[in-house]
Order: sequence, then C-alpha cells, then structure tokens
Amino acid sequence: VPEAVAIGIDVGGTKLVAATLAADGGVLRRLRRETPAGDERQLVGDLGDLVAELGSDLPVGVGIAGLVTPKGAVRYSPNIAVYDLDLAAELGQVTSGGVAIVNDASAAARGHHDVVMLTLGTGVGGGVVVAGELVLGTQGYAGELGHLIVEEGGRPCPCGNRGCIEAYASGSAIGRAAAQRLATTDAPGALRDVDPLTGKSVTLAAREDDELAREVIEEAGFWLGVALAGLVNALDPEIVLLGGGAAAETAPWMVPAASAAMRQRLLGPDFREIPPIELASLGDDAGMVGAGLLAAERAGTI
Ligand SMILES: [Zn+2]
Repeated sequence: VPEAVAIGIDVGGTKLVAATLAADGGVLRRLRRETPAGDERQLVGDLGDLVAELGSDLPVGVGIAGLVTPKGAVRYSPNIAVYDLDLAAELGQVTSGGVAIVNDASAAARGHHDVVMLTLGTGVGGGVVVAGELVLGTQGYAGELGHLIVEEGGRPCPCGNRGCIEAYASGSAIGRAAAQRLATTDAPGALRDVDPLTGKSVTLAAREDDELAREVIEEAGFWLGVALAGLVNALDPEIVLLGGGAAAETAPWMVPAASAAMRQRLLGPDFREIPPIELASLGDDAGMVGAGLLAAERAGTI
C-alpha cells in the first residue's frame, strides 16, 4: 500500500470530498459529506472532522471556489456563501502537517504547460497556466473565468452581475435553462415531471434521447464556446480542459457545441492549430488532488 503524503479536500457547492493521497496523486481513502453552505462554523467543524478522521499529521490542501489569498484566506465564495474566512488559520489548528488553501480550478490546472481550465459544477471555476506557471495575478485572484461576461445584460449570475458564463454553462444554469424552456412550451418531454430540475436531471434525460434536454446542454455549450474563443485568442493555450461533475456528464453534447462556437469566433481559424477541448483526466477529483499535492509540495513530503 502506498504511503499517504497529504490530504486533499474539495469544497464544492453541494459536497465536501476529502481523501488521503499517494505521491502520484492516487486516491487512497475517500470521505464525502454535504456542504453546509452558508454556515461557516459548521464548515470549519466538518473540515476539521474530516482531517481528524484521515490523519491529523498530514499536510492538508483545500480547493475551494472563489477568491482565495496567497495566505489561504477565503475572501469571497458566493456559491458556498463564505466571506472573509481565514481557513488556513482555522485548519492550522487541526493538523500539524501544514495547510494550503487554493482556488479549486487553479489547483486543478496545475501540472500542465499551457492550459485554460474551466470547471463546471454548481458554478464555473477557472485556472490558467502559461509556460508552466499558474497565473495568480497580484492578489492571487486571477483565473476567475466563470465571470467572463459573454452577454452584456444577459442572465443573472450568483455574483450579482449579468451575462457571466457561469449563468449559462454551470450545472445549476443548465437546470434553470431547462425549467425556463419547459415553461414556454407544451411539448411533452422526460423532464416535465422532474422536480427539482437540476443539471444532473437534464443530463440523465439527454442520455435517454430527450430532445429538449440535449438542446439545453448544446445551448450551454454554445455560450461556453463564445467564452473560449476570447480566452484562446488571449492566451493561445495548447489545450482547453473541462473539469467538474457537470462537464463529465454533459460532454457528449456540450463539447461539440462549444468547439463549433469557439472555432467560428477565433482569429484566423484556418491559420492556426485550434486547441482541443478535453475532459480533465482526473475529472471531478482534479481540484482535490491538485490542492493536496500542492500542500505536500509546500510541506516537503513529496
Ligand atoms: Zn458572475
């Protein structure tokens, strides 16, 4: 059995996933809980319990959506309803192994050379690696690709603005778009009696050949492609990676629609290599593993 070098934790909009990791990023033991969204004390308590159960002498890396300072304070995380929480200091009290708190999508993007990474889940996260270096910005807040505005005055986003790609391509946005379509048509469909209508239920219906479900996902893919055209024009990455639960499930319809919309809007598409849009190999685990390995690196256990 390989030795555990760190604990990786992903704080998502709906669930907390924690695992002990081997030096190659392999998951050794995994625990899951629901995210106590909106309750910071409960969140800190639950994270402490997970660490205690997995090994309180290991370095702990936490990936969380939102604005995270280089010292590991979570300044703004609207999907988890956490504001100004010094998570590194809190978790420093439950482990002797060292703590790293990072943006989840930035953590997921680590290890690539030139990549644009988008994670599609409750929200849309992002991470950018240029020439092997994760782009952090002056405050550590770079890579919030979910809040690129693709339609001025468009759909409302949880961040308070309108028209962000998060309002079109997240799992929650896909559920909302399906509900809206159903409200404006009498056409029968597998989704008609589904309650609550989530990104997951739309994906399940798409798999069963439901036309409305597929159209909704393709529309999300179209908007994703619009955002990606701007990102690829700006950064010229070798690859675009999609992570997060909603990406893996919707990929058969999302990715072709995004590729077509991106190509149409790229500068000189016939005169360049167009980066492929692929699923991140670690899927939903990418943020957790990236954060855990970062903590191990900082602690010197790998
Ligand atoms: Zn936004």
